[in-house]
Amino acid sequence: MLFSDLNLSAPLLKAIQDEGYTTPTPVQEKAIPPILEGRDMLAGAQTGTGKTAGFTLPILELLSKKPHSKGKPLLRVLILTPTRELAAQVGESVKAYGKYLPFKSAVIFGGVGIHPQIQTLRAGIDILVATPGRLLDHVSQGTIDLRHIDTFVLDEADRMLDMGFIKDIRRVIALLPAKRQNLLFSATYSDEIKKLCESILKNPAIVEVARRNTSSELVNQRVIMVDCKRKTALLGKLINENKWEQVLVFTRTKHHANKVSEYLAKIGISSAAIHGNKSQSARTKALADFKNGSIKVLAATDIAARGLDIDQLPHVVNLELPNIAEDYVHRIGRTGRAGNNGEAISLVCVDEHDYLRGIEKLINKKFEREIIEGFEPDPNIKAEPIQQGRGQRPQGQPKRRDNAPREYVEKRRERQR
Ligand code: AMP
Repeated sequence: MLFSDLNLSAPLLKAIQDEGYTTPTPVQEKAIPPILEGRDMLAGAQTGTGKTAGFTLPILELLSKKPHSKGKPLLRVLILTPTRELAAQVGESVKAYGKYLPFKSAVIFGGVGIHPQIQTLRAGIDILVATPGRLLDHVSQGTIDLRHIDTFVLDEADRMLDMGFIKDIRRVIALLPAKRQNLLFSATYSDEIKKLCESILKNPAIVEVARRNTSSELVNQRVIMVDCKRKTALLGKLINENKWEQVLVFTRTKHHANKVSEYLAKIGISSAAIHGNKSQSARTKALADFKNGSIKVLAATDIAARGLDIDQLPHVVNLELPNIAEDYVHRIGRTGRAGNNGEAISLVCVDEHDYLRGIEKLINKKFEREIIEGFEPDPNIKAEPIQQGRGQRPQGQPKRRDNAPREYVEKRRERQR
Protein backbone atom coordinates (compact mmCIF):
# COMPACT_ATOMS: atom_id res chain seq x y z
CA MET A 1 0.00 0.00 0.00
CA LEU A 2 1.08 3.58 -0.68
CA PHE A 3 0.24 6.75 1.22
CA SER A 4 -1.53 7.93 -1.93
CA ASP A 5 -4.00 5.02 -1.50
CA LEU A 6 -5.12 6.41 1.85
CA ASN A 7 -7.20 9.37 0.63
CA LEU A 8 -4.87 11.99 2.00
CA SER A 9 -4.67 15.26 0.11
CA ALA A 10 -1.66 16.75 -1.66
CA PRO A 11 -0.34 18.98 1.17
CA LEU A 12 -0.13 15.94 3.47
CA LEU A 13 1.38 13.66 0.83
CA LYS A 14 4.03 16.28 0.17
CA ALA A 15 4.87 16.58 3.87
CA ILE A 16 5.07 12.77 4.13
CA GLN A 17 7.45 12.74 1.20
CA ASP A 18 9.57 15.43 2.88
CA GLU A 19 9.83 13.14 5.93
CA GLY A 20 11.21 10.46 3.65
CA TYR A 21 8.46 7.91 4.30
CA THR A 22 7.63 5.69 1.37
CA THR A 23 5.02 3.26 2.67
CA PRO A 24 2.58 3.47 5.58
CA THR A 25 3.35 1.35 8.64
CA PRO A 26 0.72 -1.27 9.63
CA VAL A 27 -0.89 0.97 12.24
CA GLN A 28 -1.12 3.79 9.71
CA GLU A 29 -2.71 1.50 7.10
CA LYS A 30 -5.27 0.31 9.61
CA ALA A 31 -5.98 3.49 11.57
CA ILE A 32 -6.13 6.17 8.89
CA PRO A 33 -9.25 4.97 6.96
CA PRO A 34 -11.63 4.66 9.97
CA ILE A 35 -10.41 7.95 11.45
CA LEU A 36 -11.11 9.64 8.11
CA GLU A 37 -14.64 8.19 8.31
CA GLY A 38 -15.05 10.05 11.58
CA ARG A 39 -15.16 6.95 13.77
CA ASP A 40 -13.95 6.60 17.31
CA MET A 41 -10.97 4.31 17.66
CA LEU A 42 -9.19 2.08 20.10
CA ALA A 43 -5.71 1.36 18.81
CA GLY A 44 -3.35 -1.08 20.47
CA ALA A 45 -0.04 0.37 19.34
CA GLN A 46 3.15 1.35 21.06
CA THR A 47 5.62 4.13 20.42
CA GLY A 48 7.79 3.17 17.48
CA THR A 49 5.00 1.78 15.35
CA GLY A 50 4.31 5.06 13.56
CA LYS A 51 1.14 5.66 15.59
CA THR A 52 1.66 9.42 15.83
CA ALA A 53 1.39 9.86 12.07
CA GLY A 54 -1.41 7.27 12.24
CA PHE A 55 -3.64 9.76 14.05
CA THR A 56 -2.05 13.09 13.10
CA LEU A 57 -2.38 12.66 9.33
CA PRO A 58 -6.12 11.86 9.25
CA ILE A 59 -6.84 14.52 11.88
CA LEU A 60 -5.13 17.13 9.70
CA GLU A 61 -6.98 15.82 6.66
CA LEU A 62 -10.36 16.08 8.41
CA LEU A 63 -9.53 19.51 9.76
CA SER A 64 -8.66 20.76 6.28
CA LYS A 65 -12.12 19.70 5.08
CA LYS A 66 -14.06 21.41 7.85
CA PRO A 67 -15.27 24.99 7.54
CA HIS A 68 -12.91 27.49 9.16
CA SER A 69 -13.67 30.47 11.29
CA LYS A 70 -12.65 33.66 9.54
CA GLY A 71 -10.89 35.30 12.46
CA LYS A 72 -8.88 33.72 15.25
CA PRO A 73 -8.63 29.91 14.95
CA LEU A 74 -10.80 27.91 17.33
CA LEU A 75 -9.24 25.10 19.31
CA ARG A 76 -10.70 21.95 17.78
CA VAL A 77 -8.21 19.15 18.35
CA LEU A 78 -6.91 18.12 21.77
CA ILE A 79 -4.18 15.51 22.08
CA LEU A 80 -3.32 14.43 25.64
CA THR A 81 -0.02 12.70 26.34
CA PRO A 82 1.41 11.43 29.63
CA THR A 83 4.87 13.01 29.47
CA ARG A 84 6.38 16.29 28.40
CA GLU A 85 8.80 14.60 26.03
CA LEU A 86 6.02 12.77 24.26
CA ALA A 87 3.98 15.99 24.08
CA ALA A 88 6.94 17.77 22.49
CA GLN A 89 7.44 14.97 20.00
CA VAL A 90 3.80 14.73 19.03
CA GLY A 91 3.82 18.53 18.67
CA GLU A 92 6.79 18.27 16.30
CA SER A 93 4.96 15.64 14.24
CA VAL A 94 1.85 17.84 14.00
CA LYS A 95 4.04 20.68 12.73
CA ALA A 96 5.97 18.45 10.31
CA TYR A 97 2.93 16.76 8.75
CA GLY A 98 0.92 19.98 8.74
CA LYS A 99 3.60 22.19 7.29
CA TYR A 100 1.72 22.79 4.02
CA LEU A 101 -1.58 23.42 5.79
CA PRO A 102 -2.62 26.67 7.45
CA PHE A 103 -3.28 25.30 10.95
CA LYS A 104 -1.72 26.58 14.13
CA SER A 105 -0.69 24.16 16.82
CA ALA A 106 0.87 24.42 20.24
CA VAL A 107 2.32 22.18 22.91
CA ILE A 108 1.78 22.88 26.59
CA PHE A 109 3.31 21.06 29.50
CA GLY A 110 4.47 21.79 33.01
CA GLY A 111 7.95 22.60 34.22
CA VAL A 112 8.20 25.68 32.01
CA GLY A 113 6.69 29.17 32.31
CA ILE A 114 2.93 29.39 31.88
CA HIS A 115 2.80 32.94 30.47
CA PRO A 116 4.17 32.27 26.99
CA GLN A 117 1.63 29.42 26.79
CA ILE A 118 -1.17 31.78 27.79
CA GLN A 119 -0.14 34.16 25.02
CA THR A 120 -0.06 31.38 22.44
CA LEU A 121 -3.49 30.17 23.51
CA ARG A 122 -4.84 33.70 23.46
CA ALA A 123 -3.57 34.27 19.92
CA GLY A 124 -5.61 31.24 18.81
CA ILE A 125 -4.65 27.71 17.78
CA ASP A 126 -6.38 24.84 16.00
CA ILE A 127 -4.55 21.90 17.57
CA LEU A 128 -3.25 21.51 21.11
CA VAL A 129 -0.93 18.83 22.43
CA ALA A 130 -0.84 18.84 26.23
CA THR A 131 -0.02 16.95 29.38
CA PRO A 132 -2.98 16.72 31.77
CA GLY A 133 -1.57 18.66 34.73
CA ARG A 134 -0.71 21.85 32.86
CA LEU A 135 -3.86 21.65 30.79
CA LEU A 136 -5.91 21.71 33.99
CA ASP A 137 -3.82 24.61 35.30
CA HIS A 138 -4.93 26.56 32.23
CA VAL A 139 -8.51 25.45 32.76
CA SER A 140 -8.46 26.69 36.36
CA GLN A 141 -6.95 30.01 35.27
CA GLY A 142 -9.54 30.39 32.54
CA THR A 143 -6.87 30.68 29.86
CA ILE A 144 -8.13 27.88 27.65
CA ASP A 145 -11.41 27.33 25.86
CA LEU A 146 -12.29 23.69 25.25
CA ARG A 147 -15.84 24.29 24.01
CA HIS A 148 -15.01 23.78 20.34
CA ILE A 149 -13.01 20.56 20.62
CA ASP A 150 -14.34 18.04 18.12
CA THR A 151 -11.43 15.58 18.14
CA PHE A 152 -9.91 14.18 21.31
CA VAL A 153 -6.86 11.91 21.34
CA LEU A 154 -5.63 10.08 24.40
CA ASP A 155 -2.12 8.96 23.55
CA GLU A 156 -0.41 6.21 25.57
CA ALA A 157 -3.52 5.85 27.70
CA ASP A 158 -1.97 2.99 29.67
CA ARG A 159 0.96 5.19 30.70
CA MET A 160 -1.52 7.87 31.73
CA LEU A 161 -3.17 5.44 34.08
CA ASP A 162 0.20 4.14 35.34
CA MET A 163 1.12 7.70 36.17
CA GLY A 164 -2.06 8.23 38.13
CA PHE A 165 -3.73 10.64 35.71
CA ILE A 166 -7.14 8.99 35.63
CA LYS A 167 -8.90 11.71 37.66
CA ASP A 168 -7.29 14.43 35.55
CA ILE A 169 -8.36 12.70 32.36
CA ARG A 170 -11.92 12.46 33.60
CA ARG A 171 -11.89 16.12 34.57
CA VAL A 172 -10.69 17.08 31.10
CA ILE A 173 -13.28 14.90 29.38
CA ALA A 174 -16.06 16.45 31.45
CA LEU A 175 -15.11 19.81 29.95
CA LEU A 176 -15.32 18.68 26.33
CA PRO A 177 -18.39 18.94 24.10
CA ALA A 178 -20.37 15.69 24.07
CA LYS A 179 -20.27 15.38 20.29
CA ARG A 180 -16.71 14.64 19.28
CA GLN A 181 -14.46 11.99 17.75
CA ASN A 182 -12.37 10.08 20.30
CA LEU A 183 -9.16 8.21 19.57
CA LEU A 184 -7.49 6.18 22.28
CA PHE A 185 -4.02 4.70 21.87
CA SER A 186 -2.66 2.21 24.34
CA ALA A 187 0.13 -0.35 24.21
CA THR A 188 -1.62 -2.63 26.68
CA TYR A 189 -5.22 -3.50 27.34
CA SER A 190 -5.94 -3.87 31.03
CA ASP A 191 -9.32 -3.90 32.79
CA GLU A 192 -8.77 -0.26 33.68
CA ILE A 193 -8.19 0.67 30.03
CA LYS A 194 -11.25 -1.33 29.09
CA LYS A 195 -13.33 0.65 31.59
CA LEU A 196 -11.92 3.92 30.29
CA CYS A 197 -12.68 2.92 26.69
CA GLU A 198 -16.24 2.00 27.58
CA SER A 199 -16.79 5.40 29.13
CA ILE A 200 -15.20 7.42 26.31
CA LEU A 201 -15.53 5.56 23.01
CA LYS A 202 -18.70 5.06 20.99
CA ASN A 203 -18.73 2.08 18.65
CA PRO A 204 -15.00 2.33 18.12
CA ALA A 205 -13.00 0.85 15.27
CA ILE A 206 -10.49 -1.50 16.87
CA VAL A 207 -6.98 -1.50 15.50
CA GLU A 208 -4.40 -3.94 16.73
CA VAL A 209 -0.81 -4.13 15.58
CA ALA A 210 1.83 -6.61 16.66
CA ARG A 211 3.51 -5.79 19.94
CA ARG A 212 6.59 -3.88 19.09
CA ASN A 213 9.86 -5.68 19.20
CA THR A 214 8.87 -8.50 21.49
CA SER A 215 10.40 -10.84 18.98
CA SER A 216 11.60 -8.26 16.53
CA GLU A 217 14.14 -9.50 14.08
CA LEU A 218 15.26 -5.91 13.68
CA VAL A 219 16.81 -5.82 17.14
CA ASN A 220 19.86 -7.91 17.80
CA GLN A 221 19.65 -8.57 21.55
CA ARG A 222 22.80 -9.56 23.43
CA VAL A 223 23.56 -10.29 27.05
CA ILE A 224 27.07 -9.82 28.42
CA MET A 225 27.90 -11.09 31.91
CA VAL A 226 30.18 -8.75 33.84
CA ASP A 227 30.80 -7.70 37.44
CA CYS A 228 28.69 -4.76 38.61
CA LYS A 229 31.70 -2.60 39.41
CA ARG A 230 33.20 -3.04 35.94
CA LYS A 231 30.12 -2.28 33.89
CA THR A 232 30.89 1.36 33.13
CA ALA A 233 34.46 0.51 32.11
CA LEU A 234 33.12 -2.19 29.78
CA LEU A 235 30.62 0.27 28.37
CA GLY A 236 33.44 2.74 27.61
CA LYS A 237 35.41 -0.01 25.91
CA LEU A 238 32.43 -1.13 23.80
CA ILE A 239 31.72 2.44 22.69
CA ASN A 240 35.34 3.17 21.82
CA GLU A 241 36.24 -0.12 20.16
CA ASN A 242 33.08 -0.38 18.11
CA LYS A 243 33.13 3.35 17.33
CA TRP A 244 29.50 3.76 18.37
CA GLU A 245 28.23 7.25 17.63
CA GLN A 246 24.81 7.23 19.28
CA VAL A 247 24.04 5.12 22.31
CA LEU A 248 21.10 5.26 24.69
CA VAL A 249 22.16 3.85 28.06
CA PHE A 250 19.59 2.81 30.62
CA THR A 251 20.09 2.80 34.37
CA ARG A 252 17.64 1.99 37.12
CA THR A 253 18.29 5.15 39.12
CA LYS A 254 18.85 8.85 38.46
CA HIS A 255 22.01 8.68 40.51
CA HIS A 256 23.47 5.98 38.28
CA ALA A 257 22.47 7.87 35.13
CA ASN A 258 24.50 10.83 36.44
CA LYS A 259 27.40 8.58 37.46
CA VAL A 260 27.75 6.87 34.11
CA SER A 261 27.48 10.14 32.25
CA GLU A 262 30.21 11.66 34.43
CA TYR A 263 32.43 8.61 33.97
CA LEU A 264 32.09 8.64 30.19
CA ALA A 265 32.84 12.37 30.05
CA LYS A 266 36.02 11.68 32.04
CA ILE A 267 37.24 9.17 29.49
CA GLY A 268 36.44 11.51 26.62
CA ILE A 269 33.05 10.21 25.50
CA SER A 270 30.53 13.05 25.25
CA SER A 271 27.43 12.28 27.24
CA ALA A 272 24.46 13.68 29.16
CA ALA A 273 22.03 12.27 31.70
CA ILE A 274 18.28 12.64 31.39
CA HIS A 275 15.99 11.98 34.33
CA GLY A 276 13.26 13.45 36.48
CA ASN A 277 15.56 15.63 38.58
CA LYS A 278 16.78 17.52 35.54
CA SER A 279 15.01 20.72 34.59
CA GLN A 280 12.86 20.65 31.50
CA SER A 281 15.32 22.86 29.62
CA ALA A 282 18.24 20.56 30.54
CA ARG A 283 16.25 17.54 29.33
CA THR A 284 15.26 19.23 26.08
CA LYS A 285 18.86 20.30 25.46
CA ALA A 286 20.26 16.84 26.20
CA LEU A 287 17.78 15.25 23.82
CA ALA A 288 18.49 17.82 21.08
CA ASP A 289 22.27 17.37 21.49
CA PHE A 290 21.85 13.62 21.32
CA LYS A 291 19.66 13.81 18.23
CA ASN A 292 21.98 16.16 16.36
CA GLY A 293 25.04 14.08 17.22
CA SER A 294 26.85 16.59 19.42
CA ILE A 295 26.80 14.06 22.25
CA LYS A 296 27.28 10.33 21.77
CA VAL A 297 25.63 8.94 24.86
CA LEU A 298 22.36 9.69 26.59
CA ALA A 299 22.08 8.01 30.00
CA ALA A 300 18.45 7.73 31.01
CA THR A 301 16.11 6.26 33.56
CA ASP A 302 13.01 4.40 32.38
CA ILE A 303 10.60 7.20 33.20
CA ALA A 304 12.70 9.85 31.44
CA ALA A 305 13.11 7.70 28.36
CA ARG A 306 9.43 6.91 28.02
CA GLY A 307 8.11 8.11 24.73
CA LEU A 308 11.47 9.40 23.52
CA ASP A 309 11.34 9.32 19.78
CA ILE A 310 14.78 9.15 18.31
CA ASP A 311 15.09 8.16 14.69
CA GLN A 312 17.28 5.23 13.72
CA LEU A 313 18.81 4.74 17.12
CA PRO A 314 21.46 2.09 16.50
CA HIS A 315 22.44 1.09 20.06
CA VAL A 316 20.66 0.65 23.34
CA VAL A 317 22.65 -0.52 26.34
CA ASN A 318 21.03 -1.73 29.52
CA LEU A 319 23.77 -0.83 31.94
CA GLU A 320 21.39 -2.16 34.54
CA LEU A 321 18.45 -4.40 33.82
CA PRO A 322 15.07 -2.95 34.71
CA ASN A 323 13.37 -4.46 37.76
CA ILE A 324 10.11 -4.62 35.79
CA ALA A 325 10.47 -7.03 32.89
CA GLU A 326 8.05 -5.08 30.65
CA ASP A 327 10.39 -2.10 30.82
CA TYR A 328 12.98 -4.17 28.98
CA VAL A 329 10.63 -4.34 25.99
CA HIS A 330 10.06 -0.59 26.15
CA ARG A 331 13.79 0.06 26.39
CA ILE A 332 14.82 -2.06 23.45
CA GLY A 333 11.94 -0.58 21.48
CA ARG A 334 14.08 2.54 21.20
CA THR A 335 16.12 0.78 18.56
CA GLY A 336 15.32 -1.14 15.41
CA ARG A 337 12.43 1.16 14.58
CA ALA A 338 10.53 1.63 11.37
CA GLY A 339 12.74 -0.63 9.31
CA ASN A 340 16.15 0.17 10.79
CA ASN A 341 18.36 -2.43 12.39
CA GLY A 342 19.43 -1.97 15.96
CA GLU A 343 21.38 -3.61 18.71
CA ALA A 344 20.37 -3.89 22.36
CA ILE A 345 23.08 -5.01 24.75
CA SER A 346 22.43 -5.82 28.39
CA LEU A 347 25.33 -5.82 30.83
CA VAL A 348 24.28 -8.21 33.54
CA CYS A 349 25.95 -8.82 36.88
CA VAL A 350 25.44 -11.57 39.43
CA ASP A 351 22.83 -9.55 41.34
CA GLU A 352 20.58 -9.35 38.30
CA HIS A 353 20.12 -13.02 37.39
CA ASP A 354 16.51 -13.01 38.56
CA TYR A 355 15.71 -9.93 36.50
CA LEU A 356 17.27 -11.58 33.46
CA ARG A 357 15.22 -14.74 33.96
CA GLY A 358 12.06 -12.63 34.32
CA ILE A 359 12.78 -10.92 31.01
CA GLU A 360 13.51 -14.20 29.26
CA LYS A 361 10.21 -15.56 30.52
CA LEU A 362 8.29 -12.50 29.38
CA ILE A 363 9.66 -12.41 25.86
CA ASN A 364 9.96 -16.17 25.61
CA LYS A 365 13.55 -16.12 24.52
CA LYS A 366 16.68 -17.55 26.10
CA PHE A 367 19.78 -15.41 25.71
CA GLU A 368 23.26 -16.70 25.24
CA ARG A 369 25.43 -15.31 28.09
CA GLU A 370 28.49 -13.72 26.51
CA ILE A 371 31.72 -12.92 28.30
CA ILE A 372 34.20 -10.31 27.09
CA GLU A 373 37.89 -11.05 27.47
CA GLY A 374 39.39 -9.00 30.28
CA PHE A 375 35.93 -8.50 31.83
CA GLU A 376 35.24 -12.06 32.99
CA PRO A 377 32.95 -12.10 36.05
CA ASP A 378 34.68 -13.04 39.30
CA PRO A 379 33.08 -16.35 40.39
CA ASN A 380 33.75 -15.51 44.05
CA ILE A 381 31.38 -12.54 44.05
CA LYS A 382 28.08 -13.54 45.60
CA ALA A 383 24.74 -12.03 44.60
CA GLU A 384 23.48 -9.21 46.80
CA PRO A 385 20.00 -7.72 46.96
CA ILE A 386 19.63 -4.77 44.62
CA GLN A 387 19.22 -1.36 46.22
CA GLN A 388 16.64 0.63 44.37
CA GLY A 389 18.82 3.64 45.00
CA ARG A 390 17.76 7.06 46.00
CA GLY A 391 14.11 6.74 45.16
CA GLN A 392 13.60 5.16 48.57
CA ARG A 393 11.23 7.06 50.74
CA PRO A 394 12.42 8.44 54.01
CA GLN A 395 11.02 6.71 57.06
CA GLY A 396 7.58 7.81 58.08
CA GLN A 397 6.71 9.27 54.69
CA PRO A 398 3.71 7.72 53.02
CA LYS A 399 4.28 5.40 50.10
CA ARG A 400 3.62 7.01 46.73
CA ARG A 401 0.93 5.15 44.90
CA ASP A 402 2.15 5.85 41.45
CA ASN A 403 5.26 6.76 39.58
CA ALA A 404 4.09 10.10 38.25
CA PRO A 405 6.68 12.84 38.54
CA ARG A 406 6.51 14.26 42.05
CA GLU A 407 5.48 17.72 40.89
CA TYR A 408 2.41 16.25 39.16
CA VAL A 409 1.49 14.29 42.24
CA GLU A 410 1.77 17.40 44.35
CA LYS A 411 -0.26 19.47 41.90
CA ARG A 412 -2.88 16.76 41.83
CA ARG A 413 -3.08 16.71 45.59
CA GLU A 414 -3.48 20.48 45.61
CA ARG A 415 -6.32 20.23 43.17
CA GLN A 416 -7.98 17.47 45.11
CA ARG A 417 -7.82 19.46 48.33
P1 AMP B 1 5.82 6.76 16.55
O1 AMP B 1 5.35 5.38 16.78
O2 AMP B 1 4.73 7.67 16.14
O3 AMP B 1 6.58 7.26 17.74
O4 AMP B 1 6.84 6.76 15.31
C1 AMP B 1 8.05 6.08 15.35
C2 AMP B 1 9.04 6.55 14.31
O5 AMP B 1 8.70 6.07 13.01
C3 AMP B 1 9.14 8.05 14.18
O6 AMP B 1 10.50 8.36 14.23
C4 AMP B 1 8.58 8.38 12.83
O7 AMP B 1 9.25 9.47 12.27
C5 AMP B 1 8.82 7.12 12.06
N1 AMP B 1 7.77 6.83 11.05
C6 AMP B 1 6.46 7.08 11.15
N2 AMP B 1 5.80 6.67 10.05
C7 AMP B 1 6.73 6.15 9.22
C8 AMP B 1 6.67 5.55 7.91
N3 AMP B 1 5.53 5.40 7.27
N4 AMP B 1 7.82 5.13 7.37
C9 AMP B 1 9.01 5.28 8.04
N5 AMP B 1 9.13 5.83 9.26
C10 AMP B 1 8.00 6.25 9.85
